[in-house]
Amino acid sequence: MSLPEVLAQVSDAIVSRKTCHIVTADASMAVIARSDAELMQIVQQAGLVTPDGAGILWASHFLNTPIPNKVSGVDLVAHLCRLSAEKGWRLYFLGAAPGVAAQAAKQLAESYPGAQIVGTRDGYFQVGDEGDVLSEIKAARPDILLVALGIPKQEKWINKHQNTLGIPIAIGVGGSFDVYSGRVRRAPVYMQKSGLEWLYRLWFNPRKIGKVMTLPQFALLTIRQRLLRAH
Ligand code: UDP
Repeated sequence: MSLPEVLAQVSDAIVSRKTCHIVTADASMAVIARSDAELMQIVQQAGLVTPDGAGILWASHFLNTPIPNKVSGVDLVAHLCRLSAEKGWRLYFLGAAPGVAAQAAKQLAESYPGAQIVGTRDGYFQVGDEGDVLSEIKAARPDILLVALGIPKQEKWINKHQNTLGIPIAIGVGGSFDVYSGRVRRAPVYMQKSGLEWLYRLWFNPRKIGKVMTLPQFALLTIRQRLLRAH
């Protein structure tokens, strides 16, 4: 689906109050899901899976099932804030280090005046505090829950709690709050377009090496898939 189609689906879910988990899948998720049966099942049962990143687009072209554009978590966050200001959608930000989601909310509310960000909470709570976290989110009555706990924690958290919370849309958005709070800079547009965003991120955050190491594996799996199809 293109971005406008995804946003239309979000609108439908909010109007009908049906729950929809949107998974933003990048190459690392595809690799992790192969050895994580719970994540694989969540991805397969999600309401929507969007192509998040250059790796997925490359694979889609290489396998002759081309996807024209990515629909990334970080872009969705901005579009949802814009539409929140227009339509009154209520957003809740859960995740990232203490203070980061609140700072991201502040910056986004400045960029999109009128955006309804009805609550924020960091992602480093103890298991024992989960009840509190759930009550806080429920009391804020969001239409959209954005969860930044990293892959696959965010997908599993959403899968476990979305229906109980009764929130129409929930999306795992990875490092998006770090970006919008200003803690992490986004790669220049030419690097995003040339599929080198991962290199920029690795340069500024060498701890991302684990995620980057999944990329060669993703490429090999894609090539193998094409060879298997040819036979
Ligand atoms: N995070 C969190 N709680 C945790 C683990 C991670 O809130 O227990 C946050 C972390 O601070 C960061 C985000 O989750 O803001 C993960 O970002 P990353 O770019 O690593 O996401 P991914 O590459 O997994 O999509």
